[in-house]
Amino acid sequence: MAFAGEATNPHTKAADLSRLSKIFRTREELDGCDVTSESWQQALQRRYKTHQDMKGILNHVEEVDMSIYDQFDMRVTPYLAQLMDRDDPNCPIRKQYMPFQGELNVRPYEVADSLAEDHDMQEGTTVVHRYPNRVLFLVTTNCGTYCRYCTRKRLVSHRERAVNKQQLESGFRYLESHREIDDCLVSGGDPLLLNDRQLEDILSQIRARAPHVKLLRIGSRLPVQLPTRITPELCAIIERYDVQMVNVQVNHPKELTPLFAERIKMLRKTGTMIGNQSVLLKGVNDDVATLRDLCMGLVACGIRPYYCYSCDIAEGNHAYQLTLARILELYHGLRGFISGPAVPTFVVDGTGGLGKMPIIPDYIRELANGEIWATNFEGKVHRMTNLEATTLDQ
Ligand SMILES: *Cc1c(COP(=O)(O)O)cnc(C)c1O
Ligand code: SF4
Repeated sequence: MAFAGEATNPHTKAADLSRLSKIFRTREELDGCDVTSESWQQALQRRYKTHQDMKGILNHVEEVDMSIYDQFDMRVTPYLAQLMDRDDPNCPIRKQYMPFQGELNVRPYEVADSLAEDHDMQEGTTVVHRYPNRVLFLVTTNCGTYCRYCTRKRLVSHRERAVNKQQLESGFRYLESHREIDDCLVSGGDPLLLNDRQLEDILSQIRARAPHVKLLRIGSRLPVQLPTRITPELCAIIERYDVQMVNVQVNHPKELTPLFAERIKMLRKTGTMIGNQSVLLKGVNDDVATLRDLCMGLVACGIRPYYCYSCDIAEGNHAYQLTLARILELYHGLRGFISGPAVPTFVVDGTGGLGKMPIIPDYIRELANGEIWATNFEGKVHRMTNLEATTLDQ
């Protein structure tokens, strides 16, 4: 847009800003927008908030009851809207973000808090302390764009569950007084939705008050939903507070755009490790070819595929779920066929708060008679007497 650049000018009057931050109503207008020409905050002002808003830019938009937004908001950044296929409702980007009526048809086994995070959330804080050495610190309940399969739908996008200053302060105090915590994962919602000053305040409090935290990590999907969030100023903060790991969530190779790759390169220069946590989603990435492209595409960007999750059973998530058998097939399609560093660990987060458990296929099998047989990635089988107890006992 010819005027989009003006929006980043600090002297632009408030009235002009509101005029400039209207959503793009037609595909031509949307496609004509250079997302790098305005600030990330400005882009957030242009997010689509209902499926109705998107009818001018997408065809075959599913009609859903507006009551769906009482359960879980919709937000779509103009950048993601540009990535959405205009005509295909099965586009992997549309599948992740467009609401569908079936979400309201909750299955009996689906639960709002399937991971029982509220149970492990420490009194007065938003700190989930489940594992011995590490915590998950939820610093906001808002995101740049809401994923329809979100695990934390019960919190995320709900104003009444917004994180307040007092909870943050109690969280810092909890970290301060629990010296066994040597790993703090700052998440949400999306922590990068906070502005630089707010983010810096949180990171500096953690570093100053909990020097026993060795590993400080940030989990954010904003780099995928709005790559312009990665700015030199943000990189300086990541470097200043020595955030050792940033985990993003890329689920489909279509999300590995040139702009994303460019901003990730900028982030890598801070020296932070960048990992990816994908969610296996039916209709989005549940085929071997897509996962191979995704994982190799990630390493090409300098991102290490860390986890690949089975989709949690939050309310309305059934449409995305895969069986264990299918998940194992997908894993078998990766190991041995693509580079080792590109193969993520497949995990399922246990219902009721069991925690994450690896989904491990049995390449090596011990039979009842003590024989050990190995099957390689191509299906070739060989006995491994060197691993058998009878061999080693001699
Ligand atoms: C996933 C998670 C962590 C971090 O687990 P890692 O396996 O170390 O990445 C920590 N706390 C909670 C509650 C989690 O769900
Ligand atoms: S970015 Fe994460 S927390 Fe936010 S809606 Fe998506 S899955 Fe949920």
